[in-house]
Amino acid sequence: MELFRQRIEDLKAEINKHNKLYYEQDNPSISDFEYDEMFRELKQLETMYPEYATSDSPTQKVGSKVSENFKEVKHKYRLYSLDNSNNFEDLKHWYERIQKEYPTEKIEVVSELKIDGLACALSYKNGKLEIGATRGDGIFGEVITDNIKQIKNIPQKLRDNINIEVRGEVYMPVSSFEKLNGKQKETGGKEFANPRNAAAGSLRQDNAEITGQRDLRFFAYAAVFPDNNSPKTHYEILNLLKVQGFTVNENVKLNNNIESVENYCKDWEFERHKLDYATDGVVVKINDVSKQNELGYTARAPKWATAFKFPPEEIETELLDIELSVGKTGALTPVAILKPVQLAGTIVKRASLHNFDEIQRLEINKGNKVIIKKAAEIIPKVIKKANNTENYGIFPQPEICPVCGAKLVKPEGEVILYCPNNNSCPAQIKGRIEYWCSKEGMDIDGLGESIVDDAVDKGIIKDISDIYKLTESDLMKLDLIKEKSAQNLLKSIEESKTRTLKRFITALSIKLVGKETAELIANELLSLDKIMSAKIEELTAIDGIGEKVAQSVVDFFSKEENKILIEKLIKNGVVPQKADNLKISDKLKNMTFVITGTLSKPRIDFETLIKSYGGKISSSVSKKTNYVLCGENPGSKFDKASSLGVIILNEEDFRRLVDE
Ligand code: NAD
Repeated sequence: MELFRQRIEDLKAEINKHNKLYYEQDNPSISDFEYDEMFRELKQLETMYPEYATSDSPTQKVGSKVSENFKEVKHKYRLYSLDNSNNFEDLKHWYERIQKEYPTEKIEVVSELKIDGLACALSYKNGKLEIGATRGDGIFGEVITDNIKQIKNIPQKLRDNINIEVRGEVYMPVSSFEKLNGKQKETGGKEFANPRNAAAGSLRQDNAEITGQRDLRFFAYAAVFPDNNSPKTHYEILNLLKVQGFTVNENVKLNNNIESVENYCKDWEFERHKLDYATDGVVVKINDVSKQNELGYTARAPKWATAFKFPPEEIETELLDIELSVGKTGALTPVAILKPVQLAGTIVKRASLHNFDEIQRLEINKGNKVIIKKAAEIIPKVIKKANNTENYGIFPQPEICPVCGAKLVKPEGEVILYCPNNNSCPAQIKGRIEYWCSKEGMDIDGLGESIVDDAVDKGIIKDISDIYKLTESDLMKLDLIKEKSAQNLLKSIEESKTRTLKRFITALSIKLVGKETAELIANELLSLDKIMSAKIEELTAIDGIGEKVAQSVVDFFSKEENKILIEKLIKNGVVPQKADNLKISDKLKNMTFVITGTLSKPRIDFETLIKSYGGKISSSVSKKTNYVLCGENPGSKFDKASSLGVIILNEEDFRRLVDE
């Protein structure tokens, strides 16, 4: 029993973590399928062991709380999520349960495509758009009115002067998503995992102009009528929305039995790939509004609707080629070049094959038909060779680096092949420069893959230290740079000179040292000098650092060329700052802080300072909060802190507290 309680707790924590990534940061790290599997398991366990079910479980909630970057609004009418039907049996059960409630009537339902975007509520007063908000947690949403006004097919004025709250999905067409990602890649901007995240990331911008530059659209699918003048059926509501100027998806269908809904789902499982927007299922809703009201809601979803989710997809395509990609540390990754196919909302052209053991396992070669799947609907993966394909043998393991011709090596105990020519292999040089500039590294905005490739090919950048010698005239020699972008780029290069030690170590592309490991090292050894001269024993003494990582760090800093590179970086003005979480004292030990409002410096600076004094940061105010640091225009956290009697500090109080 204890085992199940623990499993429930683990699932709740895991789902909450993914909710944050998905809803607040628009940056999921697992596929929807994987997420849904966890959610289903949690629901099942909570049904089996109700004594362990709690009201704060994600199964009892909608979405996630409102991000601090937006003003929040309390929805006048709650917004809900949808319960899922994972197969036709579930769908039938749902319908039969409702049919039982109305034994003498034939229950009509409306089938609609489930658009994969984000839900918004648009409130109109006398026919004029007043507030646009995200769903948020269904009770509070984020105010995004200015951003909503940028979406061309959302009317700001309705045909009639009515009061209405319209709900619908903001989405990005698949073709626009592909274009946006192409552009982001070229310019070093953030690439989105799928059209849903691109839509959410584009809409939830603090600068509405950026939203205006993105191709966002809206499908209206529901409405609330504050004046109690709702049409009698959902189908009529959709027609009313069209008349008032909204786009309603054209594939809506009125069905009077569940078999025809099943056929609708079966048809759209395949037909949806012809559409220029992503759909992840079919939403089935009871048509009669009075029955909807009678059936009501659970804590998170209407009982009068269900979402039939399409199964995760696999698709067959041709393996046109296997490209050998050489990474920043020399690791060679075989990449499958595929005949382009649409899969779960995006066109897939490439998939990593990871290493040559994987190619052996799959027994594949150019020309084979292969089955691909989106592992968690994000990353395409070759899962097997198709049954009906000819035998072309197995793609041979190369002997030499495809870029520089050096003889490849395979360190003992590893499955990965490496090009050992770290200092002159062009692929490694470009990879390291790109990573140096990346968001994880020194975060130089505007130095993306294409620009770096061009700069290295033209001999303008030979290693990372050259970045800090670039002039406007150097940059103007690059194909994608114009005068304005050259100036912006120089500015972000200048800003990057004082990034933290943690980022500096991460950005050096030391084998086996990612950002977490870099943080451990930087926080413990505190200075670049100490890290450069650290012995294996000093490194392995750090909790979380093993032999292999320690050896890799020592090897890196013992190489003459790396010492010279670091000298050049410092000579060119790069000064790594003390580590982010550097402990100064325990003055704020065990004290929890919440920050709200606008402060004189970015919030992250205050967070760093609090952590450096041993304090903790929390995103919400509770009785356990010790202090709320409050800037100008504070949000609802100020009110909550006042009502709970939590001490509220302004910036000056705070500085006094830490004696700054
Ligand atoms: P949901 O997407 O399963 O269903 C509810 C939503 O469907 C509504 O809020 C609305 O936005 C949308 N919708 C689209 N077309 C509609 C239509 N015609 N009529 C009514 N609603 C329509 O529920 P959710 O709560 O938004 O999100 C849960 C889902 O999100 C999960 O099942 C999972 O697929 C995904 N998710 C994934 C991760 C991850 O890490 N991958 C994390 C959290 C959530």
